[in-house]
Amino acid sequence: MKTMTCSQLGGACDKAFSANTFEEIAEQSKQHGMEMFKSQDAAHLDAMQKMQSLMKDPAAMGAWYESRKAEFESLPED
Ligand SMILES: [Zn+2]
Repeated sequence: MKTMTCSQLGGACDKAFSANTFEEIAEQSKQHGMEMFKSQDAAHLDAMQKMQSLMKDPAAMGAWYESRKAEFESLPED
């Protein structure tokens, strides 16, 4: 298992997620983001807005995703 925080994954807090693959950890971060969206957490809404503008540019989004994934791969196992 490897651990990354919400903020490392484009979020806004230090909540830690653990998973064996980047896809899993990205999914956990997404679920957490949706909960924060429901509770209208200002810091997360702001982070989400930045992600959404990134998503309008598929090349930039792809580069962001790959760099997060590379960071995950380079982490030591827990
Ligand atoms: Zn968070």
